[in-house]
Amino acid sequence: MKHLRKEFYKLWKKRTFTLMKEPEYEQIIIGAGFAGICMAIKLKQAGMSNFIILERNCNLGGTWWDNAYPGAACDVESHLYSYSFKPNAVWSRQFSPQGEILDYLERCAAKYEVEKHLHLNCEVSQTIFDEAAAVWVVNTTTGKAFSARMIILCTGGLSQPALPDIKGLENFKGEMFHTARWDKSFDLAGKTVAVIGTGASAIQIVPAIAPVVKQLYLFQRTPPWIIAKDDKLISNFRKTLYKYLPFTRALHRWRLYWLHELMAIGFVVNVDVMKLFGKIALRYLKKSVKDETLRKKLTPNYIIGCKRILLSNDYYPALQRDNVAVVTESIETINETGVLTNQQQYPVDAIILATGFKAAEGVIPFTVKGKNSEDLNEAWRNGAEAYLGTSVSGFPNLFLVVGPNTGLGHSSMILMIEAQVHYIMECIQFMKKRNIKSAEVTKATQANFNTDLQKQLAKTVWQSGGCHSWYQNKNGKNVTLWPGFTFTFMRRTKRFEPGKYELVE
Ligand code: NAP
Repeated sequence: MKHLRKEFYKLWKKRTFTLMKEPEYEQIIIGAGFAGICMAIKLKQAGMSNFIILERNCNLGGTWWDNAYPGAACDVESHLYSYSFKPNAVWSRQFSPQGEILDYLERCAAKYEVEKHLHLNCEVSQTIFDEAAAVWVVNTTTGKAFSARMIILCTGGLSQPALPDIKGLENFKGEMFHTARWDKSFDLAGKTVAVIGTGASAIQIVPAIAPVVKQLYLFQRTPPWIIAKDDKLISNFRKTLYKYLPFTRALHRWRLYWLHELMAIGFVVNVDVMKLFGKIALRYLKKSVKDETLRKKLTPNYIIGCKRILLSNDYYPALQRDNVAVVTESIETINETGVLTNQQQYPVDAIILATGFKAAEGVIPFTVKGKNSEDLNEAWRNGAEAYLGTSVSGFPNLFLVVGPNTGLGHSSMILMIEAQVHYIMECIQFMKKRNIKSAEVTKATQANFNTDLQKQLAKTVWQSGGCHSWYQNKNGKNVTLWPGFTFTFMRRTKRFEPGKYELVE
């Protein structure tokens, strides 16, 4: 007996055996951003509440919790960048700021009583599929382990900061942080600051901090394409109208939806259409920047849309302030006192890394082991692939929201999130009805889907526009974006297709 207990303890430590026939939970959702909260709400609406959400942060919100830098706001209109089932008549602006979006998400979670399912400060370290029991075991860095029939990864495509591959980063003696890890305790007032990167984050931060810093050096490697942002306060009259006559708000959302869908024509159907956007952007640059040398520095040399098109009214004006300089010299190294380029040293008090996210490589920030102990990140080493960005062959009962090739260059991600969540719900309902223990997309389904997807992608501006972007992995394969209209994706995710899955009862 003593011997058996010893053996059991040894195995328990190794967790190499099937401990339980039935898991603790039906679903474990990992991540509490827009995707995770949407998944939780839909489960609750379907009367299913045997699930938990694991969130590494001390608050829900995902990207809208992480990205709390000065000037953070959405670049998609709020009436489209919100759940279709939880409209918000009182958005303050066309493009709402970060705090208001976070507040909206918190209100959604509260309304549907999602909070009681939340385990905050609970970072997942690994998840392992126990094939015999068809159960996922999820280990966390807190030491707690959970088990569920199904795991739904809602960890987001833009949640892991990418640090630049610049020599000497660790030698800098001043303050240095990534835009998604903003140090609110550090006062930038009166400081000399370097901002590295000129993407969507930088163009919001630079105008917000330029008036308070002493000197700002903006290190630009590639100029972004910028278009004026049609941002304004939404009048009280319109808010009242939206509140008391909801069809007016729905009409507004409908109009926004179709305006954005039209843009997809240029991105994915006929790249020549992008020339029109290019002309608009160049005219805006010419109107905004009078100095020819600066204008030349800010003029992109690739087709508009190849990298994300940025919207801003205050970026170009900020760059023309006396205390702001755009540096296009290439960075050689970072040393104790600042940034050394191939031409000179820039001594600074702080360095802000606006260098983006690991979106195309090693996307899942923990170990995921599926059938035969196959590692998901390893399976994706040549480029992440899934079926409809949602199911992965070799990983039964695992679903992704905002998985591979579900990102958008032209519209609101919430549309894609809702479509994927709908698909997963269809699958869950199907499995429940038929008493199915595990569902795994077939290899052939996934392979055929991705062959077609890459054929479509080859025609898009992201692949033919003459740039390298975070949409692509190191081999240039686009593993992040959906090459089509959102309504096409919605149609494809409308019904769960059991014939494309291996089902085990
Ligand atoms: P990003 O668009 O990937 O921009 C990163 C910037 O850092 C680029 O300018 C890049 O230059 C530069 N960079 C990277 N490594 C460098 C190096 N070693 N030396 C010099 N420069 C370097 O990242 P992001 O601005 O954080 O935006 C990422 C995405 O997040 C956006 O595209 C968007 O989807 C989302 N976002 C959305 C909002 C919103 O309003 N909703 C706001 C912020 C972010 P290269 O171009 O030359 O590579």
